[in-house]
Amino acid sequence: MNIYADNAATTRLSKSASDAMFLCQNKLYGNPSSLHSVGQQAAEALLAARETIAETIGASAEEIYFTSGGSEADNQAILSAAAIGEKKKKKHIISTGIEHHAVLHTLEKLKQKGYEVTLLSPHENGIVRPEEFAASLRQDTVFATIMYANNEIGSIQPIAELGKICREQGVIFHTDAVQAVGHLDINVHKEPIDMLSLSAHKFHGPKGIGALYVKKGIPVSTLIEGGAQERGKRAGTENLPAILGMAAALKDSVADMEETSAKLLPLRNKLIEGLIKIPHTILNGDCKKRLPGNVNVCFEGIEGESLLLLLDSKGICASSGSACTSGSLDPSHVLLAIGRPHEIAHGSLRLTLSVENTEEEINYMIAEIQNAVSYLRSISPIWRDLQEGKKEYVIQ
Ligand SMILES: *Cc1c(COP(=O)(O)O)cnc(C)c1O
Repeated sequence: MNIYADNAATTRLSKSASDAMFLCQNKLYGNPSSLHSVGQQAAEALLAARETIAETIGASAEEIYFTSGGSEADNQAILSAAAIGEKKKKKHIISTGIEHHAVLHTLEKLKQKGYEVTLLSPHENGIVRPEEFAASLRQDTVFATIMYANNEIGSIQPIAELGKICREQGVIFHTDAVQAVGHLDINVHKEPIDMLSLSAHKFHGPKGIGALYVKKGIPVSTLIEGGAQERGKRAGTENLPAILGMAAALKDSVADMEETSAKLLPLRNKLIEGLIKIPHTILNGDCKKRLPGNVNVCFEGIEGESLLLLLDSKGICASSGSACTSGSLDPSHVLLAIGRPHEIAHGSLRLTLSVENTEEEINYMIAEIQNAVSYLRSISPIWRDLQEGKKEYVIQ
């Protein structure tokens, strides 16, 4: 069997996105900035895509800035908000310890430039407490950046509440919604959001394209200088094939959202139930406020990396956490931030489902993971120590 269960890392391109891109590459080759008819055809397609994307999140087309993906959108949002703070002499920023590195590393850079950053620790279930968030706001807080849903443990934040607190205090509110757009119902007006990042390859669109929504009236900083594309805020000829692919993928994801969730939830829950039956295993993230396709568990006494390789040999593509931390031997910063001890965080496994996964695959994964964990424990010195009572079990 060949099972792809790493949809939080990236998804397969959908048929409609692929068709839209193919058509664009072959027919809409004009430059949207050209005044002739071939250019204007491209400009019209660009506008239509911008409108489609805006509409799906309740924004207007002039509030959408195309970027090279989620990372760039996060950088542009944070640096724009920081520039506003610079002018207003407000240099305090609020975020969390479970953000994506595109956010955390940008905040790190700002710290070196004299900004002060408060990183909130979410509750053990990976969710920020609104009271704690409200209490961390200060007179000099310029913006807050809190992810909509976590890419590793799937926890969904109370964005509407957090946004409301910011709006009342005149604090700019950005959310990295890369894992949420196309998967959860999002509206930037119902949930007062000032800036929002999204990325196409997390909802079956192409890689290397994303967008930043910025509420009208909030000034945006220019990261890439050059031509007047994106209303002067992001130079360079637009990646029209990718933009059209993104719009097609998003339109489908939103149209099918309810149906997809209804299919994914029972599969996800079955997988969770099957895995936590394995002794000394713990679920990471909240059991309810969780992305419909996300499963993340820690197994005591094993190394996540060994498990991944073993599962790959059985045809299962999984992850130990974010794609950015795999390859390094440090445990996930997200698991540490929710209070998992180092040893436990090392034994993590993330399986992220899409609508293409089947119940047969879930059953196969449960069986193979049970076997793999038993085998790895049988050869693990840590596990032997635990069995012999030389160490305490952390996970009961
Ligand atoms: C994938 C991801 C990103 C980065 O998006 P890219 O398009 O790969 O740059 C940022 N934030 C979150 C939460 C993500 O899951």
